[in-house]
Formats: sequence, structure tokens, C-alpha cells
Amino acid sequence: GAITLAAALTACGSSTKTVDEEGSSGDSAGALVGVTMPTKSSERWIHDGNNVKAGLEKLGYQVDLQYAENDIPSQVNQIENQITKGAKVLIIASIDGTAITTQLQNAADNKIPVIAYDRLIRNSPNVDYYATFDNFKVGVQQATSLLVGLKLKKDDGTDGDAKGPFNIELFAGSPDDNNATFFFNGAMSVLQPYIDKGTLVVKSGQKDFKTVAILRWEAGTAQRRMEDLLTKTYGGAKVDGVLSPYDGLSIGILSALKSNGYGTAGQPYPVVTGQDAEVASVKSIIAGEQYSTIYKDTRQLAEVAVKMADAVLKGGKPEVNNEKDYENGNKVVPSFLLQPVIVNKANYKSLLIDTGYYKEDQLK
Ligand code: BGC
Repeated sequence: GAITLAAALTACGSSTKTVDEEGSSGDSAGALVGVTMPTKSSERWIHDGNNVKAGLEKLGYQVDLQYAENDIPSQVNQIENQITKGAKVLIIASIDGTAITTQLQNAADNKIPVIAYDRLIRNSPNVDYYATFDNFKVGVQQATSLLVGLKLKKDDGTDGDAKGPFNIELFAGSPDDNNATFFFNGAMSVLQPYIDKGTLVVKSGQKDFKTVAILRWEAGTAQRRMEDLLTKTYGGAKVDGVLSPYDGLSIGILSALKSNGYGTAGQPYPVVTGQDAEVASVKSIIAGEQYSTIYKDTRQLAEVAVKMADAVLKGGKPEVNNEKDYENGNKVVPSFLLQPVIVNKANYKSLLIDTGYYKEDQLK
């Protein structure tokens, strides 16, 4: 059959391809990989894109890397173009995880495997693998560091000296990003018991995901919401903690706080969390403004995605470590989850500088 023919052709040094050869080794050398990232407006995705591209090129693949500035139609076009250009695998960090079903069907019709990158792609059977971090754990860590910052807990997990009650406000990420729910649910799994006991008080009363979610992770929207909360809910009262799921939002939230008189000796900033260890936020942590962030080593994530792509291109099976948590509305997508880490002023040097993630002078 075709395999023998393929083998024969390879043996003859011919580069003629048959359809049956798709995805077999030998045939995949130098293949084109389509990589789509959401936006350059957040540093992390720039690192992700560069690292994935470099990793694939090192293995001899060609890479088409695209950014869509958070615009869904642009990302849709980019994916379509990559299919037209003959990409042999697609690595996609989606903007709206529910908006590319048609493109993925097109990919499947062309036998192009799809790897969801960082964010799960939903409502499609045509998602083959998923490379990400333990997103529920990210939320658990954000909430845990909020408790530590409020001194309700100690670093070692035991109870802290503070008793509360503390006023807090909650923010969540973009509702069309599957991760946002995982972060929020992870965080609430830790915070809810404290809210139930009255140790933590969400003074605005805004506690459900839909109400506190920030579309497209926009810093400006978070800043406006925080300003609104301060004017409408707080009056003379003080906010002690803010659960923020992403550094970009944290920066917006801190600006709102600053323009409302926080950030002075008499009225210090509340404990504000974050995610991604972006340079501006790490600087803010060093300056004692933002309290913490979550470090997700994008070099590791890129490496996992590159390995997955390489394996499928060679007709093999990528390594996964989770086949239960990421149901996308159609199927459970085999996933590889990496581990996130809490970063604060006390440990940023060992986590971010000693590991080579940043150089010391980038953080000055
Ligand atoms: C990522 C986070 C990031 C957020 C905003 C999420 O999908 O997992 O790392 O903070 O998007 O870009």
C-alpha cells in the first residue's frame, strides 16, 4: 500500500509525497507550523511567541507567527491563511476560545492537528492537545497570597495573626477566555470559606464571575471598575485587598487606588495580586505597591508546545499529564499542565533573576 510506496520513494531520495504520508517522519522535515498569539499588548505573549518560534526553528521547522491585537476576525483570518499556506500543525493561543470552530473544522478537513496554547479552545472536537499551566492552581495561589498579604495566613500555610474582618474586592479575567473561570474558581475555593465566616467582606456585594469579569483583560476597564467601586461603595471605608487575576489589570487597579488617595504612609495600598510576572508589575512589587504575582515560566510552556508539535509532525504521540480537567464542550482535551509559582518581594530574585527569566537591570 501507500506506506510501502512512501518508503520506496524515500529510499529513492524522491521528495514526491502521497496523502498517506502526511504526518509521517521524514515527510515532516522543514514543515510549516502556524502559530497564532492573541496580542502584543501584554509582554507575556511576546515571550511566548518568540520562544515557540525559536524552539521550532531549532528543530528545522518553518514558522508563521501572527498576533491579532485581541481582534477576533484578525485571528480568524490568520488561522485561515496559515491553512492556505500549507501549515502542517497549528499552535493557537485563542482570543475568544469559542470563536474559531469553523477554522478548526477546516484544519481537520485538511488533516492539520491543532494544539491549544495556554488557553483551551472550546466547542470544537478538532482540538488535539493542550499545553498550559495548572490554571485552577493559579487561582488558588492568587487567593492564598491575598490571605498571606492580609496576614490571615502565614507562608507555611498556618493561620496568621490577623483576625479581620477585611474588605476585599474581586476581579476576574475575560469571560471568553476559558482560563478566566479556572482562575476565579481556584481563587474562590480558597476565599469562600473566609467570606462565609465574615472574615473577608466583599463590600460591593459583587461576587459572581460575570459581574466581576473584565472583557479582553483590559486594564482601562479594570481601572474604571475600581474607581466606580471606590466612589460608590467605599466612601469613608477602606479596601484592604483586591483579587486581581492579571498584572495588566493590577496596574489599572493600582492607578485607581492611587487617584483615590491610596499609596501613602497613612493609607497604604491594599493587598493586590496579579499574574504573569510582567516587568512593570515586578517593579511595582519591588516598590511595595502590588503585593504579588504568579510566575508562569513561558519558556517551559513554549518548550512543551514545541515538543507536542514535533511529536505530532513525526506521527507520534505527545506527552501529556492530564486527561480529565479540560473538557471543551465536545471532548476532554489531552493536556500537559505546568506548575505556577507565587512571586512576592521576598522571593522575586531567586525566582525571576537567578533562573535567568529577567536580568536584574530590567527590573530597575
Ligand atoms: C493567561 C494569563 C494572562 C491572561 C491575560 C490568560 O489566558 O493564562 O497568563 O494573564 O490570559 O493575557
